[in-house]
Amino acid sequence: MTDTKKIFIEIDPNAGFCFGVTNSIKKTEEFLEKREEIYVLGELVHNEEELKRLMKIGMKVISHDEIDLLKGKEIIIRAHGEPPSTYKKLKQINAKIYDLTCPIVLQLQKKISIVADEMIKTGGMIVIYGVKNHPEVIGLMGHTKGIGVVVEDLEQAKELQLDRPVALFSQTTKDKEGFDAIENYLKYELNSRHIPFESYATMCKIVDRRLPSIESFSRKHDMIIFVSGKESSNGQYLFRIAKNNNSNAIFISFLDEIEQLEISSQVESIGISGATSTPQSLLELVKERLEKKING
Ligand code: SF4
Repeated sequence: MTDTKKIFIEIDPNAGFCFGVTNSIKKTEEFLEKREEIYVLGELVHNEEELKRLMKIGMKVISHDEIDLLKGKEIIIRAHGEPPSTYKKLKQINAKIYDLTCPIVLQLQKKISIVADEMIKTGGMIVIYGVKNHPEVIGLMGHTKGIGVVVEDLEQAKELQLDRPVALFSQTTKDKEGFDAIENYLKYELNSRHIPFESYATMCKIVDRRLPSIESFSRKHDMIIFVSGKESSNGQYLFRIAKNNNSNAIFISFLDEIEQLEISSQVESIGISGATSTPQSLLELVKERLEKKING
């Protein structure tokens, strides 16, 4: 690598936490100012570095299988939300719940619950476009009252038996293109059978608003380093957009991965971006490490 000191490094000004994640982290930090430890059901945020930081100050991540250990304890419900069965279980064991479900997810759960009641009357079903084992989707499925099915892509939608009314929803962090493709397919198939179809494009606007900026930011630089937890749906989605606009976009989850990065001698500028669950502080650390690597 030659002339590496000339490389310009910029953090995406539109990257950083969304308000749902900001709120859950801020509240967790506030709780931990007043107590030694607090439990959270599942990973608070899909970002390994941020999780490590919070665990250092007393946050304890507990899985759904270990719920019985929380008898009488204080427990945080994260921004992804939970199905009604989780609340029921926690109440049974007398746990004190701090519900940090993102208001957007909460609204979606309520809407699904209302539509589920209507669909039950007509023998219909609810289809959710999302990732089956994603915590938000597990929570949403809990509100479908047993008439929900998850499809991860158009191929899976094509396997549905379309003999009843359908209401289509989306996981908040899924992509518009995927939703549109499934919506168009279901609309066409059900209309041609004269079966009612309704759809709700419930993707989070916060993620949507990032799209134009990540496109232009990715095109502006010779190389993009996209920082996100591997489990983050919006991270995978935003990275795909970055990659479509810059073939030299690299996905990393940990700071140490910077050491292995190959930076070609043609690279004059590097852009750093991340998911809605990637903290600004981590992007700054990535920039710092990169500068060190480049400048030696
Ligand atoms: S991405 Fe949107 S829905 Fe998800 S936590 Fe953030 S603000 Fe809430």
